[in-house]
Amino acid sequence: MSVNIGVLGMQGDVAENIAATRTALAKAGMKGTVKQVKTPSEISKLDGLIIPGGESTMIGQMSLVNGAIKTIKDKIQKGMPVFGICAGLILLSKNAKDRVVGKMDQPLLDLLDVRVERNSFGRQRDSFEAEITAQPLGIVTSRGIFIRAPSIEGMGKDVQTVSKFNEKVVAVKQGNILGVAFHPELTSDVSWHKYFVSMIKPAKKPQK
Ligand code: GLN
Repeated sequence: MSVNIGVLGMQGDVAENIAATRTALAKAGMKGTVKQVKTPSEISKLDGLIIPGGESTMIGQMSLVNGAIKTIKDKIQKGMPVFGICAGLILLSKNAKDRVVGKMDQPLLDLLDVRVERNSFGRQRDSFEAEITAQPLGIVTSRGIFIRAPSIEGMGKDVQTVSKFNEKVVAVKQGNILGVAFHPELTSDVSWHKYFVSMIKPAKKPQK
């Protein structure tokens, strides 16, 4: 059985996530296809979706204009696993504000019950790398690359903290939603993508 995984390709680091997910599928011994998706019809056929890092205002606006945001929301509410990375985590959230600018009017999927602070560690020049562990997911060590990264300031009771860095929450899970503030696709270690593909079950073929 084969899984159909999409990387939302409005803007951001799409190619890196496609490559990391293909490697993760191979390492997990799973069969599947991984491709860039944009349209509601492409998204409706997916078993799993990655919303990559980039600029959340831009990805959100483009997804709103072509109707993708509605299909993504429907699919996640019906249980499709989703992996939000940095800007993707922001888009999944119910609430986001910028550390400097404060509340902005940006489209959000309004699904992940967290309050996100955008650019929580500073601007582009404050980018850094750090060692990240996520014991609840069995990830003993990984390299986190933080680029204008958000952090999670508050969360509802259904959200599980899976990783912290310097007292800030930087990775969470809520059922079929996984969100990280850093960029695992920019390292050669695919443990986060491998965990994500393990959340995906192939769609059942209709019985003949
Ligand atoms: N700061 C960006 C935003 O708010 C996210 C940065 C990233 O995805 N690397 O959308």
